[in-house]
Amino acid sequence: MRVHAIQTGRVQIKASQIVGRGHGLKRRLAPLIDAEWSAWLPTLAYAIEHRDGVILVDTGASAASKRLPRWHPYFRLSVRFDIEPEQEAGPQLRAIGIGAADVKRVVLTHLHIDHDGGLAAFRKSEILVSPGELAIASGIAGRIRGYLPQRWPKTFDPKPLALADGPYGPFARSRRLTADGAIVAVATPGHTRDHLSVIVEDGDRAIFIAGDASYSEATMLTGQIDGVSDAEAAALATLGAIRAFAASRSTIYLPTHDPESANRLAARRATPTPASRARPVATTPSSRAALGSSPSDDGTIKLRRGCSSFPDRFP
Ligand SMILES: [Zn+2]
Repeated sequence: MRVHAIQTGRVQIKASQIVGRGHGLKRRLAPLIDAEWSAWLPTLAYAIEHRDGVILVDTGASAASKRLPRWHPYFRLSVRFDIEPEQEAGPQLRAIGIGAADVKRVVLTHLHIDHDGGLAAFRKSEILVSPGELAIASGIAGRIRGYLPQRWPKTFDPKPLALADGPYGPFARSRRLTADGAIVAVATPGHTRDHLSVIVEDGDRAIFIAGDASYSEATMLTGQIDGVSDAEAAALATLGAIRAFAASRSTIYLPTHDPESANRLAARRATPTPASRARPVATTPSSRAALGSSPSDDGTIKLRRGCSSFPDRFP
């Protein structure tokens, strides 16, 4: 199976959105007042060439993302997009020989505007969205939460993706997306309550398409939740589950906005597991507690596997 990283322009957000500061409402408001911008980060979608057809995970941003509703403080103060029409997912896929008709399914990790922005190019594809995510993104309440349902294509009528297949490794809920079980959606709540990720079982590696479960591999490994999640415990548990998965088997970890994601995919570079990490992560007692980790003598941590009955490989 081939997996393509499709970069749909760049985005800048606040540092306190990438690594949340404080707790509760204070953490979620910090990106509005934070003066520190991130570097320009990629906004990635991922196309999986499977024998049943291409599955596109997220559709990236659109050129319209450069014009956002000014009444919304987040759009006015906390995010900047840099993208031209030819950088949207549709044209980029065409450039590598994948037409819209080849994309049988589009799976959305969540409905934030840099994930659903390219939907218009895939009007004939089956669109799969978590029902909870669709509900929270819809209507006036969705607009207040920072979604842009008014920009969904008129034909947008996604199928509910209920994660009804039970646990998959350390993930409590899952759903096979292909008959051969090689592509599986798993629940990764936190960034949004119904956020999901997609695992591609590709020979000796699992490819973990993480959406915004974390903004980078580093924050997943260190267990630092973002400044967006309204469910801190769920977000922390999700990062722990991803670490447990990556510790159980070789995993290429691909968040949407990690500048290293595309290189990692091209080099098939697996995420460092506790045993293979060259430099352990220095932590404070509080971050160790947050990680559910045990301190070693030198004040570093050894990440524990999240589940004692955790199999080495999953079906
Ligand atoms: Zn998001």
